[in-house]
Amino acid sequence: MKLQRTRSQERILNLLKSLNRAVSAQDIYVELRNREQSMGLATVYRALEALKLEGVVQVRTLASGESLYSSVQRDQHHLTCLNCGASIAIDECPVHQLESELQDSHQFRIYYHTLEFFGICDRCSVVTTTDEAE
Ligand SMILES: [Zn+2]
Ligand SMILES: [Zn+2]
Repeated sequence: MKLQRTRSQERILNLLKSLNRAVSAQDIYVELRNREQSMGLATVYRALEALKLEGVVQVRTLASGESLYSSVQRDQHHLTCLNCGASIAIDECPVHQLESELQDSHQFRIYYHTLEFFGICDRCSVVTTTDEAE
């Protein structure tokens, strides 16, 4: 199936790819205006909805209820340190096999998944130990 994207959808997708982080629809609206590619907020929302259903944009909803959008990246996971914020990429995907199994058992086409690990990195755990010793 060949999807025909609108120009708004292309612009938003290109923007999300270049930003490389998750942003709100409002951020996208402002960023497009800065790039002189202005479009109405309603158009931004419509385009994001279409891109989401196409599987090229993912959305994460914060506790505040705000939705953050980002382009779907390659299958890459990270260990994130809660203290210094270091983000360490891990080579393998622990759920790759599970994903294929779920697709089969549930007849569900999976576009992407998210998986993040949080804790304390090696460097920070050394610092913490030293503090306690004093
Ligand atoms: Zn750390
Ligand atoms: Zn993965």
